[in-house]
Amino acid sequence: MEKFKVVWIGSPNYTPGRAGRKPIAIVNHITAGLNPGALQWLQNPKARVSVHYLVSKKGEIFQLVKEEDTAWANGAVNQPHWPLYDGSNPNYYTLSIEHEALAGEGLTDRQYQASLWLHQQLINRWGIPIHADFIIGHYRIDSVNRKNCPGLNFPWDSLFADLRKTGENIPAWKQDIMTRARQAGLITGQHHPDERADKWFVLEVALRVQKIK
Ligand SMILES: [Zn+2]
Repeated sequence: MEKFKVVWIGSPNYTPGRAGRKPIAIVNHITAGLNPGALQWLQNPKARVSVHYLVSKKGEIFQLVKEEDTAWANGAVNQPHWPLYDGSNPNYYTLSIEHEALAGEGLTDRQYQASLWLHQQLINRWGIPIHADFIIGHYRIDSVNRKNCPGLNFPWDSLFADLRKTGENIPAWKQDIMTRARQAGLITGQHHPDERADKWFVLEVALRVQKIK
């Protein structure tokens, strides 16, 4: 697959570090506006918003915030539909990708290829599962004011199909067990289903199961 280039441009809108968390999920957005305005807005201190990456219609990838730092992309939580939301600010445990597009628009071919490549880099770097709870749209965090982000024409089906061709695909049943364990309070945050569980972890889960009974 073609390798894309990431162009660092930076933004003053970010929080250094991640409050001790690490990225567990990727959140996709659309700008609902065009460059250069969309890009400039994410760099404007008055906007108080940012993302880690913006993928333009031409397939350029601009980086605004380091992955180790917190972008200001998904801080407002409103009727979320996302099992990984744990009550704390989602910006601390997500990576955000903005796509240059008008409201309701899909991606250009070139933009899609660039975004696919970027997803693959983030997935490999942070061990993010190729699963609909780990690669999400902004609307899952704010289903009220951001219900059209990234919109109905975002290419979810092809994105997951293409990611699965090259990446590690966690079977749905394994991921469902992790989701249920999280909902039952047996685990917090994200545990990769194919990761080896340490003894302390198994003990902790066993103790919690006893408490639930
Ligand atoms: Zn958004």
